[in-house]
Amino acid sequence: MSQNCLFCKIVAGEIPATIVFKDEHVTAFRDISPAAPTHILVIPNRHIDSLHAATETDQSLLGHILLTARKIAEKEELEASGYRVVLNTGSDGGQTVFHIHAHVLGGRRLSWPPG
Ligand code: AMP
Ligand code: ZN
Repeated sequence: MSQNCLFCKIVAGEIPATIVFKDEHVTAFRDISPAAPTHILVIPNRHIDSLHAATETDQSLLGHILLTARKIAEKEELEASGYRVVLNTGSDGGQTVFHIHAHVLGGRRLSWPPG
């Protein structure tokens, strides 16, 4: 666990969150400030700063994050309408919490390109 990392604290159960899925590798919970009817974050239980801090050794974990996002979309019944999975990376990418997380967004028509 990384000291003072908000998402590590959610994994450890030290900060409350609405957890929708958890296994030995990842945790998924509802975003505290939802940008869409479904807005869930999927994070690895082990701390990695960002996509850019990931390495070859994280390959299967990154795949697991994506497949968990897919599973959550299914649970939220988004497969027919579609959904978006986003990894904001670094400051221009809009990353504010430096523990890698995939946003799963759906339940409304999302615009493109993003702002
Ligand atoms: P990003 O801007 O990509 O780093 O996304 C960070 C996300 O974490 C934002 O959408 C926040 O609303 C969300 N967030 C921040 N604090 C919490 C929290 N305590 N529980 C759930 N989501 C959070
Ligand atoms: Zn962390």
